[in-house]
Amino acid sequence: MTRYALGIDVGATKVAVATISEDLLVRQKQEVATQAGDGEQLWSKIEEVIASFLGSETGALLGIGVASAGPLDIPHGTLSPVNIPVWRDFPIIERLESISGGTKVALHGDALALAHAEHAIGAGRGWENMLGMVVSTGVGGGLILNGKVFPGETGNSCYIGHHSINFDGRLCVCGRQGCVEAYSSGPRMVAIAHENGFDPQLKTFIDLAQSAREGNAIALEAISQGTRALSIGIINFIGTLDINHVVIGGGVAEAGEIFWKPLRAHIEAESKAIGFLKNIQLRKAELQRDAGILGAALAVLR
Ligand SMILES: [Zn+2]
Repeated sequence: MTRYALGIDVGATKVAVATISEDLLVRQKQEVATQAGDGEQLWSKIEEVIASFLGSETGALLGIGVASAGPLDIPHGTLSPVNIPVWRDFPIIERLESISGGTKVALHGDALALAHAEHAIGAGRGWENMLGMVVSTGVGGGLILNGKVFPGETGNSCYIGHHSINFDGRLCVCGRQGCVEAYSSGPRMVAIAHENGFDPQLKTFIDLAQSAREGNAIALEAISQGTRALSIGIINFIGTLDINHVVIGGGVAEAGEIFWKPLRAHIEAESKAIGFLKNIQLRKAELQRDAGILGAALAVLR
């Protein structure tokens, strides 16, 4: 009999639900928009999709994995994703356990899920130690150590977006000053450009990247500063652990060379003084939109 896992990826604008076979093939997949009504209405839409998948799959369910934007509270099994205000301390683990008859349910942060999936079948295949990152509306990280995911004690290891790189720096949404994310997330790069006179009609990172490609100096400077902050965060982190492998996914990383070229230059400059970081391998994530559901499924399959 075939065996499969259910993978659920809770993102800012949609929740993806999928069934994933043991050999990590996506069998069925459906997305639910997160703007749909209140927290219970959103849950009931997700529950409907899960019920239809569980009803139509013929194999044995091995477990349910959830990948979510933070903050998470893994010991209590709850989610409070910043971009889904209708879910605060939402008890997703308890809900899933009750509808699945006590099957194994596990929760990963979204960046840890990306690291897990990219390490298993994506850009990080074969690497013993690896930092996986999501650079998007936020900046997050997930760590593979000695070939295994390292979630930390509460599931929040590798909280790299909120490492401060400047103690007198910009105030971050988290309340600290000078966090990597306060300079490097897509929305922050756009906000910094606006402070410096960038066209207020152009509001997204896609707009900023396009203006930079066309030679707009303010856009180029905002991306240079954002990728520099990101490179310092990366070098601090991988230097602490003495690891040389990094995979980056997320919407900002999808922008192409306008992001990767300055990032590589800053990584090279920042790592020069650290002799053991001589072979840094920096790769773009390969799995794109399926990284979350695959990483979620891996949390129960491996
Ligand atoms: Zn922060």
